[in-house]
Amino acid sequence: MKAIVVHKFGGPEELKLEEIPTPKPAAGQVLVRIHGAGVNPYDTYMRAGTYAVKPPLPYTPGSDGAGVIEAVGDRVKKVKPGDRVYTAKTLTGAYAEYALALEEQVHSLPQKISFGQGAGVWVPYGTAYHALYHSAKAHAGETVLVHGASGGVGSAAVQMGRAIGLTVLGTAGTQKGLDLAKREGAHAVFDHSKAGYQEDILKATGGRGVDIILEMLANVNLAADLKLLATNGRVIIIGNRGEITINPRDLMLRRASARGFTLWGITPSEESEIHAGLIAGLENGSLRPVVGKEMPLAEAARAHKEILEPGAAGKIVLIP
Ligand code: NAP
Repeated sequence: MKAIVVHKFGGPEELKLEEIPTPKPAAGQVLVRIHGAGVNPYDTYMRAGTYAVKPPLPYTPGSDGAGVIEAVGDRVKKVKPGDRVYTAKTLTGAYAEYALALEEQVHSLPQKISFGQGAGVWVPYGTAYHALYHSAKAHAGETVLVHGASGGVGSAAVQMGRAIGLTVLGTAGTQKGLDLAKREGAHAVFDHSKAGYQEDILKATGGRGVDIILEMLANVNLAADLKLLATNGRVIIIGNRGEITINPRDLMLRRASARGFTLWGITPSEESEIHAGLIAGLENGSLRPVVGKEMPLAEAARAHKEILEPGAAGKIVLIP
């Protein structure tokens, strides 16, 4: 099969398209014919060797794939050949024509969701779900600022926030991104590349502030975020690429909190709740993954460059 293989940590040019043996499922494992592989920012940190988790080399990147079960090993009960699935992690990597996964790493992909969309389910929607439900403990009627609403996690959070009765404010840095956030359900949108946009956000809440901020770039925004919070507000740190100085008094004055998480650290019971919630939302149409761009697998290096550039507009998906 064709697969992207990384032999040493480094730049995007380390993503090599190679012919490697198709794996065979052992007991408890399944083989998925991958029709779409989602590109996530952490894939680039892992390839660069700067991520907390360093896979043994050589490795094939990708936790998020969607496709059809090709074969199953002994004792597999949950799925059978021909079933449509999305993956939440794999054993051999989703940037490939086939990926081996544990039975519990594959989940039913509703018929109305395309494979391209299915490739954008796990990390973006799992993160948005964990942020809103487990971390922020959002309640209908609250206001959420999705700070970075044009990308994979942000567009998922906008749809989810809207579906559960939140007032959703979203930010993006381009007109295309602003349009996307609005289209996916944001009540109001703001351009985070324009000076003074935080004042417009505060004005939009009548000066009260927002209850929840889902933050995609904490090293740039956290200090200003704390001043946008209502009493008992919570900033949930999802994305961060460096250090920042904050004034803790901004938290004290508002009885506010800032907390972070990584999706890799969630508990098995949180994970099963997440999949149940996501599958229900995909089935009932409230969750509709936005595919911004599809590229052939061979262009994985270009995908890794583009995912880190400004101007996000949904997911980048590789097609093996
Ligand atoms: P993505 O699809 O590349 O989107 C990036 C988002 O960040 C876009 O909406 C982008 O907006 C926005 N952004 C850029 N500059 C910003 C600024 N100054 N203020 C606010 N937002 C800004 O990435 P993603 O998959 O959504 O992931 C977002 C971040 O969360 C990444 O850093 C990723 O590593 C992290 N993440 C963490 C977890 C976790 O477990 N904690 C899980 C998933 C993702 P424009 O392009 O429109 O400017």
